[in-house]
Amino acid sequence: MEFIPPFCPNSQCERHEKPEAGFFVRHGFYEAACRPAPIPRFRCRACRRTFSTQTFRQDYRDQRPDLNEPLYRSLVSSTGYRQFARITKLGVGATQRKARKLARHAGFLHENLSRHLPVGRTFVLDEEETYEQASIRPLTMPLVVEREHWFIVATAVGPIRRLAPAGTKRRQWQIRDEGKHGKRPDTSAQCVEAVLRALDSKLGGDRLVLRSDLKASYVTIAQAVFGDRVTHERTSSREPRTTYNPLFVVNTTIAMTRDNCGRLRRKSWLVTKKREFLQLHMHQFVVYRNYIRKRFNKDKEDKSPAVHLQLIPRSLTIGEAVRWRQDWGQGSIHPLSGNGSRRIRDGVAGVA
Ligand SMILES: [Zn+2]
Repeated sequence: MEFIPPFCPNSQCERHEKPEAGFFVRHGFYEAACRPAPIPRFRCRACRRTFSTQTFRQDYRDQRPDLNEPLYRSLVSSTGYRQFARITKLGVGATQRKARKLARHAGFLHENLSRHLPVGRTFVLDEEETYEQASIRPLTMPLVVEREHWFIVATAVGPIRRLAPAGTKRRQWQIRDEGKHGKRPDTSAQCVEAVLRALDSKLGGDRLVLRSDLKASYVTIAQAVFGDRVTHERTSSREPRTTYNPLFVVNTTIAMTRDNCGRLRRKSWLVTKKREFLQLHMHQFVVYRNYIRKRFNKDKEDKSPAVHLQLIPRSLTIGEAVRWRQDWGQGSIHPLSGNGSRRIRDGVAGVA
């Protein structure tokens, strides 16, 4: 399918926001070592700048675009950077940079595809705990998940402070650590508020049912974010964790993150060095879980949670999720668009 540039990629150009038919002229081809076919170039009639098909692709400027899909697959299959680097002979640093670029785009993709959630839904909130560098530097990672289709709406990552009982070795270690680095901040409330605000921004003022455990701060934060639009159902986290537990959806999603993301595994050598990188990794997991992976193993049809919520007409492949750049918001090319002509804001009725 022949590529048609949907707009001028120069953000200063009038044809960036308002492209017109024929805003570009064809401008030859160039050969890229990593691509089998010559890449078509174009020139914008308005700003005279040149660009190519590659300018619109997620892998623009990549030295090894062929490794993007395998890396994505590895990072949602609990493989570490080092192991990926070993088996592909790519450097560890290059692997990390590639992973972070892919993850940033995954974050944009999720934002772009989930701007408006369908009305009348129930959402489940809980916090997952992990750590950065050493187990005495704990992190919280709240998640909000849609109850029926298990769509992950938002995640956030931040430091928390959990002191061990006084007099223990662990407590002494914590005291030494805080002596060196300062008192560890506790941002649990801010992180929970951040995910609830992210959820609110997708609801368009709609009412919602929110489920959580009995943590008192959740009531205050939910009230502050949603006011009287929220029906807050609370369950003790001591209830048996069966499929009947109202928090089952979020508990199982947390278990999936631990299974799929190596750094969240218990008793693993893989450790989050910095919390920002955990957040990036979560963007990748979220796209995998919401748009690529089948909702439940028992489902007959291969439909991801986002298909069930009618955000996309069919599940994405990993290749589609990493195909087009997503840093242009709603103007980005839709991941299901084969020739670049459909943008996220146009939606995709069938499969383009
Ligand atoms: Zn232009």
